[in-house]
Amino acid sequence: MATYNKDKYINFPLLRPDLIDAFWSKIDRSGQSQESHAAMLAGRVSTPCWPWLGSVQRYGRFTWWYQGRFLNGRAHVLAYYLTKGILAPDGYELDHLCKNRHCCNPAHLEVVTGRINTQRGNGSSLTASQVLIMHILRYEQEWTQQSIADQFGIARRTVRHIFKGDIWSEVHAAYLAQRQP
Ligand SMILES: [Zn+2]
Repeated sequence: MATYNKDKYINFPLLRPDLIDAFWSKIDRSGQSQESHAAMLAGRVSTPCWPWLGSVQRYGRFTWWYQGRFLNGRAHVLAYYLTKGILAPDGYELDHLCKNRHCCNPAHLEVVTGRINTQRGNGSSLTASQVLIMHILRYEQEWTQQSIADQFGIARRTVRHIFKGDIWSEVHAAYLAQRQP
């Protein structure tokens, strides 16, 4: 069975029981931490988040050394695979309903198309004035796209689309126009 897609860096032959145990030990499933309750308090989900406790690289990849092997992947994708037994098919992504990108709770993950994921990161949670503030942070205070994404609780990809003018293009164009000397 071909299981490889864009998450092919999940190395399936490595998923021995001891390694899976080690993986889960890096995830806080207790529901006790402040981080695990934030999305519930915001009304986005009805169960606590399961934050990944290990280190996180760019694009949400987790990395850790295990018995001399260096593993990396996306923690929520692996957690979803281990609990549901499937990966999101090609062209689809796992959307965090809780908007906590470190969360590995499979109940907070929904398979959606990449396009819907981008729209959700845009339409449902942003307003034109927020997008304008993003432009000010980016161009006048030199925030990174990642810092902006973190601040507004959206995907970095969505921020990139905004600054390319792919979405919220009216706000983008209006901002650039008033920046002209
Ligand atoms: Zn969550």
